[in-house]
Amino acid sequence: MTERNAAERGNEWPAGMKRTKQREAVLAVLERAEGPLRAAEIRARTGEDGAPVRLSTVYRILEIIVKKGMAVKLSILGGETAVYELNRFRHRHYAVCVRCRKIVSMDNCPMERFIPKLEDGDFRVTGHNLEIYGYCKDCDAAP
Ligand SMILES: [Zn+2]
Ligand SMILES: [Zn+2]
Repeated sequence: MTERNAAERGNEWPAGMKRTKQREAVLAVLERAEGPLRAAEIRARTGEDGAPVRLSTVYRILEIIVKKGMAVKLSILGGETAVYELNRFRHRHYAVCVRCRKIVSMDNCPMERFIPKLEDGDFRVTGHNLEIYGYCKDCDAAP
């Protein structure tokens, strides 16, 4: 799989997906995002360019664009929270601050060279899940 970023992908719009102002607004937020965002954060940012998109609509749009492969949904904090980011065709991991819930991207994957010792030798591994947690810089400095 090749790595492509939003700029290279340009105006690619999946076939069969209706182009609406609200969908464009949600995608524009994801394209500008510096990291994965929660639905409520996406909603708040859609208001920066115009009228904010309703949260229920944001959820519906996210569901569609995840299904179309344009964005990925990640469960963090043991599935308690869902965050979304543009599908950059790249395997990613995150560290989550247990105090302020800030999400920090990880540049490497410690599992890349890891060969799991499985009792079922015929088990074909296709992926993994890894979550790092701790305190971000701000929270670590806080009293
Ligand atoms: Zn923090
Ligand atoms: Zn990994």
